[in-house]
Amino acid sequence: MSTASEWRATRNVAARTRLERALPACFPAPVLQHALARPLIPPTPRLAVESYWRAHLLRADRLARALATRSGHPEGWTWRLGTGKDSGLAATFRLPPSPFREPAHARGKGHCCICGQPVYRFGWHRDLWDVGAPNKNARWHAACVTAWKFWVAPSDQVKALKARQRHRCAASGKRLFKTAEVDHRVPLYRVWREHRDAPWPTLLDYWGAPNLQVVNRVVHVEKCGQEANERALSRRAARTAVTPGEPHGDAHGEDDPHPDLSPR
Ligand SMILES: [Zn+2]
Repeated sequence: MSTASEWRATRNVAARTRLERALPACFPAPVLQHALARPLIPPTPRLAVESYWRAHLLRADRLARALATRSGHPEGWTWRLGTGKDSGLAATFRLPPSPFREPAHARGKGHCCICGQPVYRFGWHRDLWDVGAPNKNARWHAACVTAWKFWVAPSDQVKALKARQRHRCAASGKRLFKTAEVDHRVPLYRVWREHRDAPWPTLLDYWGAPNLQVVNRVVHVEKCGQEANERALSRRAARTAVTPGEPHGDAHGEDDPHPDLSPR
């Protein structure tokens, strides 16, 4: 046995002991199963839950969107972009709209700031322990955190998305190369321009797996070029449409103020 595997074996014995000691009588069986099969066993139930969702990214994405559907959007809420730090709103349409993170609609502790639903022990989304009340110290579901990270940086998860497509380019059907890139089928600027009034849970689908595809780089470059042309044309049309003295362009901000967040 090498020194590294000896170290790991010793560490895993200690981690397993710690995990089992902290485990409540009721704990999601698939999470425990996943934890015990890790090369490095997570030493606490919470870390086990987080590790489980990280490994089941697409399931976390589906769950977070389903929980959001259960919440619906708060009365009177519309998707708006912020102009200053104090607004509590995201400044770019590249971030998913998140009503429950806005100070005016936050549901407070014990509720997930991403989906709005109650959070229970270990960041779980169901009250498996019959406590009858959410965990007052929790502000998000472990699944929703995984989903949020996926929504804002889907390129980091290219491996899972490639596997979902059986390593075939979603546009050409050819085998995906190493340089393949993650693409939003409906680009986010169009979501903002054409769908911003859609119900909030429906909007989230544009950031989640339903709107994500992996395409070979050459296809992606071409698609991005077309989208850039299309945006330039619509900007020009908006400029010619306004009368002198009025501000140019779309009053809601057609341009992306933060192109760096583009998931490429
Ligand atoms: Zn949540």
